[in-house]
Amino acid sequence: MNCIFCRIVKGEIPAEVVARTEDVVAFLDVQPLADGHVLVVPVAHEACVEDLEPAQADALFRAVTRLAGPVREAVDAAGTTIGVNNGEATGQTIPHVHVHIVPRWEQDGAGSIHTIFPRRGRRDVKEVGTAIRAGIDVARGAD
Ligand SMILES: [Zn+2]
Repeated sequence: MNCIFCRIVKGEIPAEVVARTEDVVAFLDVQPLADGHVLVVPVAHEACVEDLEPAQADALFRAVTRLAGPVREAVDAAGTTIGVNNGEATGQTIPHVHVHIVPRWEQDGAGSIHTIFPRRGRRDVKEVGTAIRAGIDVARGAD
């Protein structure tokens, strides 16, 4: 396994780890977008969020909610942008799920998540809603 995040999880590569549980490891990004830019990864090597088992997903988002405040406060930020590039086409360069927590300040020059999209929604909202509802796996508890 040559996944850099798996190697960080196993301690084979040094990282500035800020939190670790049985299911999740959080560490500072080595190429930070801002001071305090943290990556939160599941211990399990899964490429996309839809590949996570429910317990893994629960643990991951629980860690994000626990970290958002301390990350923001550690660097005196006004807020955080929390995001996931989910799939290679989105710009995900390492195929191991990772949640970015990026501290933000007023007038920091960065935009909101909305600013990365050219607003290309063209299909009827009800039609798309029906398609999504039809694809939900109720067995996973996503109802
Ligand atoms: Zn991995």
